[in-house]
Amino acid sequence: ANKLGSKTERTLGVIKPDALLKVGDIIQSIYDANLTITKAKMVTLSWKQAADFYTEHQSKPFFNNLMQFVTSGPLIAMELMGEEAVSVWRKLLGPTDSDAARKEAPESLRARFGTDGTRNAGHGSDALASAARELEFFFPSTTGRGPPGTAKYADC
Ligand code: ADP
Ligand code: MG
Repeated sequence: ANKLGSKTERTLGVIKPDALLKVGDIIQSIYDANLTITKAKMVTLSWKQAADFYTEHQSKPFFNNLMQFVTSGPLIAMELMGEEAVSVWRKLLGPTDSDAARKEAPESLRARFGTDGTRNAGHGSDALASAARELEFFFPSTTGRGPPGTAKYADC
């Protein structure tokens, strides 16, 4: 912790396919929140990759809709760094459901750029542990990953 009692963290931020054209506004909001973009890539996920990424939601009723949505086009994955980046980015996104966000947090990114409960503009890791796993998913460590072509998500 620094002298203010907060700590520098890294988290995964994703601009989902529905908000891709709003990337400029979203990056401005990231700057305004004092977060730094330390890595970024645009990728289109296969169904299998998306299912892997969202494995915790496999048995949810909305899982297929979620897969359909997140594989529908390119998304932008970012490593965001800053003081309490995990919660700062989640707060910036707002509530999961975009309609709820418009009522409860009208300035949030989901309120501004999301459509509904599934098409909600962005993703943010919900804890430091999930941030580590999710950052590794999109930005695999370059050490010890074997010969070319064997990386888990080489085609990301
Ligand atoms: P968050 O993205 O806010 O962490 P969850 O981890 O609960 O939310 O869900 C992952 C994603 O699945 C959401 O961002 C949203 O796209 C979709 N989703 C979550 N809950 C629902 C729901 N009840 N109906 C439809 N889609 C949902
Ligand atoms: Mg989540």
